[in-house]
Amino acid sequence: MAALALLLAAGCAGPVQHRAATAGDGAGQPAGETATRPAGDSTAPAAAARPSATALPPAVDRVRTTDKVVFLTYDDGAERDPRLIGLVRERRLPVSFFLTDSVVGPGYAHFARLRAVGAGLQNHTLDHTALRGLPYAGQRAQICGQQRKLTSRFGVRPRLFRPPYGTYDATTLRAAADCGITALVLWRVSLDGDGVLTYAQGAKQLMPGDIVSVPSVDLPSLTLAERTRRLLKEADRRGLRVARLEDYLAGTGAEP
Ligand SMILES: [Zn+2]
Repeated sequence: MAALALLLAAGCAGPVQHRAATAGDGAGQPAGETATRPAGDSTAPAAAARPSATALPPAVDRVRTTDKVVFLTYDDGAERDPRLIGLVRERRLPVSFFLTDSVVGPGYAHFARLRAVGAGLQNHTLDHTALRGLPYAGQRAQICGQQRKLTSRFGVRPRLFRPPYGTYDATTLRAAADCGITALVLWRVSLDGDGVLTYAQGAKQLMPGDIVSVPSVDLPSLTLAERTRRLLKEADRRGLRVARLEDYLAGTGAEP
């Protein structure tokens, strides 16, 4: 438990990831830039510099859409609140979970139940390593390794990848593409352990297309289901509903 606490201490919602999402290092594209590109257009700007046939996935922290929707994404897989399963089922919430193998450990059955009630399961590496600056082989092992774990357990290969701490580089995009990932998913909004929303940049309120990250928190004051209810209330107040991120992003980029 101490190791887990240490692992999650930095969480996924530190300030680091937004530098990656917005300023980046020349590798990432502006958030949301390619999310609304018409289907079939695979001439991603980043692909031009790469002779390989596989287009690089976009990195998005929000989806460019005028639909009155937000996207609800949970990270790591440390918190397994059984009441969240009931909430997802009752409200038919098309949420997504970005799972780290070493955090989920023996807890995959919980996520199988979430999947059975409509949740999507996506990739968040084998052991929550910060990828930026690592050699290609190491990054590929983290991403493809978790692709294999999730595919063998659930029979469906993830299309979306969230880099731990939101930190990545050009090598991450290449490794992710080679593992069958079609989009790197960052976030603009995060929900903390007290059920409070924080905004990394831009409007200080929920906006259409926002991707909300719910990181695993040590000793949260509210359960995951309670925090989720707070978020839903705020979304309702803004006239926004939860939509399935995979419907908006999984088709971006080239098919592997
Ligand atoms: Zn994480």
